[in-house]
Amino acid sequence: MGSDVHEIYAVRYAHHDRQSPENYLFGDPHDILQPLAYFVWAIVGPHGTFVVDTGFDEAMARKRGRTIVRPIAEGLKSIGIQADAVRDVIVSHLHYDHCGNHDVFPGARYHLQDAEIAYSTGRYMCHPLMRIPFEEDDVVAMVRKVFAGRVVFHEGTEQIAPGITVHKIGGHSKGLQCVRVKTRRGNVVLASDATHLYSHVNEGRVFPVTFNVGDVLEGYATIKKLADSIDHVIPGHDPQVLDKYPAAAPGLDHFVVRLDADPKA
Ligand SMILES: [Zn+2]
Ligand SMILES: [Zn+2]
Repeated sequence: MGSDVHEIYAVRYAHHDRQSPENYLFGDPHDILQPLAYFVWAIVGPHGTFVVDTGFDEAMARKRGRTIVRPIAEGLKSIGIQADAVRDVIVSHLHYDHCGNHDVFPGARYHLQDAEIAYSTGRYMCHPLMRIPFEEDDVVAMVRKVFAGRVVFHEGTEQIAPGITVHKIGGHSKGLQCVRVKTRRGNVVLASDATHLYSHVNEGRVFPVTFNVGDVLEGYATIKKLADSIDHVIPGHDPQVLDKYPAAAPGLDHFVVRLDADPKA
């Protein structure tokens, strides 16, 4: 394996059943069941283990009406990753489903875009509507990590390690970043909420929670350019990811899948 080639795992931790109109700005005429899956991702390679996003815990699941299928620390452990040994966490954005579990990675520093901390602590949070996807405790926990010297800020495109880069996309949240990872099958983009489902990027549709619709749409072009093909784009919440990629190990079907493996035919 080259010094910049990594394995990637999608680790599913929660689930939410919902109807398709909830997933699209201006709704969906089909009104079918279209659940969301919730993931954290692990990038494993010669420079260590990088966890992308930290999910939410049982208390938050209850508060938000979601279902935990396997707590993130357990999911990571199933592929041999001890959460307390993780040194680097990349946070795509500060929505509640991406930055909870504040104490699960006590040894990690957190990689975040400048624009995201500014957005989540600034003037737009004076509007109740803009606060909906954020949790005060999550934002405060991140601010405390800033003061503890545990946050590394990035602006735009930056390299985290050879073969791992973050890219500011914005749109859905003002400082949303995606992660590009070099793997044995080429450059894979962990899009996180730059596209919730395959249908968003493929059909030019937009998830209803949005800071800037134009930037969401522009972001689709960016993630497609960063990835080697559309099959190298990994949406943030699409349960199809679990069907498309092989289990990381026997018994982990639909829980932990290998994203550096070719999609199943
Ligand atoms: Zn989000
Ligand atoms: Zn999300």
